[in-house]
Amino acid sequence: MTRYPDLQVYIGGSWRKTKRSQPVLNPADESVIGEVPLVDQSDLDDALQAAADGFKMWRKVAPRVRGEIMVKAAALMRERADEIATSITLEHGKPFPQAKLEVVRGAEFFEWDAAEGQRTYGHVIPSEPGIKYMTLHQPIGMVAAFSPWNFPMSQPCRKIAGALASGCSIIIKAAEETPAGAMHIARALQDAGLPPGVLNLVFGVPAEVSSYLIPQEQTRLIAFTGSTAVGKHLTGLAAQHMKPVLMELGGHAPVIVCDDVDPIEAAITSVSRKMRNAGQVCTSPTRFYVQEPIYNAFTKAFAEHAKKIVVGSGFDAGVEMGPVANHRRIEAMEMLVADATAKGARLLAGGDRIGNRGYFFAPTVLADLPDDARVMREEPFGPLAVINPVKTLDEAIEKANALPFGLAAYAFTRSSRNADEIMDRVEAGNVSINTLEASVAEVPFGGVKDSGYGREGGAEGLSHYTVVKTVSHRMM
Ligand code: NAD
Repeated sequence: MTRYPDLQVYIGGSWRKTKRSQPVLNPADESVIGEVPLVDQSDLDDALQAAADGFKMWRKVAPRVRGEIMVKAAALMRERADEIATSITLEHGKPFPQAKLEVVRGAEFFEWDAAEGQRTYGHVIPSEPGIKYMTLHQPIGMVAAFSPWNFPMSQPCRKIAGALASGCSIIIKAAEETPAGAMHIARALQDAGLPPGVLNLVFGVPAEVSSYLIPQEQTRLIAFTGSTAVGKHLTGLAAQHMKPVLMELGGHAPVIVCDDVDPIEAAITSVSRKMRNAGQVCTSPTRFYVQEPIYNAFTKAFAEHAKKIVVGSGFDAGVEMGPVANHRRIEAMEMLVADATAKGARLLAGGDRIGNRGYFFAPTVLADLPDDARVMREEPFGPLAVINPVKTLDEAIEKANALPFGLAAYAFTRSSRNADEIMDRVEAGNVSINTLEASVAEVPFGGVKDSGYGREGGAEGLSHYTVVKTVSHRMM
């Protein structure tokens, strides 16, 4: 049985291999499962030409018809969920049931944007007799998009859906570490009848691809999800060529736990959410600030439940957490734990790699950390939570806002007064109270401060993929 697809790039409606490639590893056992083709400039030139032709044609297709193709592609993704999830678990490591949920999530992004694309309304602006002022929301043009490895399917879905629903064409460089997820999206769109050139999927050396695509005349938007450092670099490059950007970057999400909630219930909910995707989520709840009266109970329950998380191969029944993506993440976890414990933090769970084959790292909990521990400022992007006590809500909000990040933030409280303070004062693009869900298709998602610029999803999501044209029409 072929469990992992033969990897290819998709340019101008055809699949192709390229001259270069690099291996794709299964993070659960470090075996090679495929060879991802890497494009060179001539492949990118073909993609640029295809995307230019694709845009000319796609912008004229009625939004309803675009939506129908997208909805059909989403239905195919749902139908193929087992096959797609198998690829994702192989290349990424996450438990198979979570990979299936990711496929559904990707399909939901398509379905939402397919409908939103039919509502990119302009205005007719009241004016003096004889002249009419109008605004039209037109597709911005060709999008150069870059998606990361943590959600091989839903991350590229976000960007492809936004572009297609708005009438844009797109060249997306998906993650070389997890290429099959994006390939399945392109296949579904091809099978749903997407005309050639509208979507072009490439893999390559990231810096080579971005530095070639961003300056091109027909590139009209740069959409990136990844680290803040790379996001700043690409934003600088885009600025030199006056290109707008949509940047979904890193986070270091605070969780404020007020003393009016059940500490055990809050801890159990928090542990499972923290360890989802082995903590490799930009919205992962990470910095817990717990009010003193419930601090000990919360911390004890959190550590106990972290120890119970079943870690293993994503295909094994009952496994709750798979490996981290690569050896770099293991090294990052080890460094952050060593630094924090050397500075006096208490290690309550985990702290070590599990075994020496496959990138497994134990769910890790640190408490009572000094402010100068690196993990208090650096996003761990792994299965590591930090818990500190706070006296007051004011202190918790001050600490939540102390970092340059502002993507997701969470709180547990029964008090509507506390909730009101939190939603008003916490600096984050997405604030969730008594839930650790931060992003579903129907709500806008994105950051403030170093966590990026712009919103994906919700009613706001397509605004970046469109430009407002003002028309003044004097009647003759
Ligand atoms: P990294 O900074 O090396 O890469 C992050 C992403 O950017 C990768 O997908 C990579 O292919 C891409 N990239 C790197 N250089 C690029 C360039 N010059 N042009 C275009 N794309 C480029 O980090 P990493 O070790 O792969 O991942 C760890 C860090 O990435 C984490 O600390 C986290 O902040 C961030 N990250 C964030 C998200 C997110 O959802 N916001 C997702 C994945 C990774």
